[in-house]
Amino acid sequence: MLQWFRVAVAVVLCLGLASSAKSLDYVVLHRDGKEIQVSGRLVVAARDGGILLLAEDGLLWAIPPDEQVSHTADATPFHPLTRSEISRRLLTELPAGFEVYKTAHYLIFHDTSQAYAQWCGSLFEGLYRTFTNFWTHKGFELAPPEFPLVAVVFADRQAYLKYARAELGEASQSVIGYFAMLTNRMTMYDLTGLGGQGYAERGHTVAQINQVLAQPQALQTVATIVHEATHQLAFNCGLHRRLSDCPVWFSEGIAVFFETPDLRSAKGGNRVGAINQMRLTRFLRYCATRPANSLETLVRNDQRFHDTRRAPDAYAEAWALTYFLLHQHSKQYVAYLRMLSQKKPLLQDPPEVRLKEFRHAFGDLRRLDAELLKYIGRLR
Ligand SMILES: [Zn+2]
Repeated sequence: MLQWFRVAVAVVLCLGLASSAKSLDYVVLHRDGKEIQVSGRLVVAARDGGILLLAEDGLLWAIPPDEQVSHTADATPFHPLTRSEISRRLLTELPAGFEVYKTAHYLIFHDTSQAYAQWCGSLFEGLYRTFTNFWTHKGFELAPPEFPLVAVVFADRQAYLKYARAELGEASQSVIGYFAMLTNRMTMYDLTGLGGQGYAERGHTVAQINQVLAQPQALQTVATIVHEATHQLAFNCGLHRRLSDCPVWFSEGIAVFFETPDLRSAKGGNRVGAINQMRLTRFLRYCATRPANSLETLVRNDQRFHDTRRAPDAYAEAWALTYFLLHQHSKQYVAYLRMLSQKKPLLQDPPEVRLKEFRHAFGDLRRLDAELLKYIGRLR
């Protein structure tokens, strides 16, 4: 996800914000030797002619001026495609053999067994319920997703890697699933390792899959999928806007807060708010060498998350901070969330603004840091 963010911002960094028109824009563009037609809602128009367009299938198109062949608009109102229209469109784009499994909020495109698609559906719907209940209870007004939530599940890892490489490059090798901000989709593969030929004949059921993935060694793998599904929900239910400058500690903090699946529940439950033992252990270990300004470096910019050496500690600290704030300063956290949710796409805040907004919400950093360490130090 982070990589997509950087790519998109790099492409259109020079853009300024324009108000979105209540009309439909039609763009013909030239990319990778192909001519592509897209229509949708104009999100950003740049002084230099670059545009960010939200297509009717939920994809964001960052189109620099040199790619544009033509750009017109008319008064046709913008309507997101229906579930059936998106299904038809995506099935023609995916490799042969894919079908779609539909749940209340998700379209799961897959070429693995029906049982595995069902298992994914239960996991996602369970998370959806937990996620929406949690934020509603906290007093944050969620927006219903404007587009169906899409997941693409490959039966086999090699096919997944081939597909993912086009989006993530070589990073896909180390990623078992991801949410891509531009496509708004999750992509993953069958984690049971049983996908592919003969899978259906072996008669696996949702309960059997649950049993395989409830093994301790599989928990972290499933947590990763829940993590990515949480990002998708946060970006689709109004917590953040795609391509806005939401601090990474904040968006990742929410994803690690929710990544505690409860696979003992066949309905795909989620022990939200449970202590994330892996992140806690990592954070406590980090505390031995944690610099005095660690909280400040976490908040002021996203650099620690982009440095592979320092990222695991940054994720652990994002979990600790989110857990602490949601338990001890819930009202201030939700006010801060509300402010961040209004950030406009492609506008970047300088570090001083990040710090100022954080201090405005939570007060003095040194006092908060001392409180954080005391609170987390008592967790078991
Ligand atoms: Zn993440």
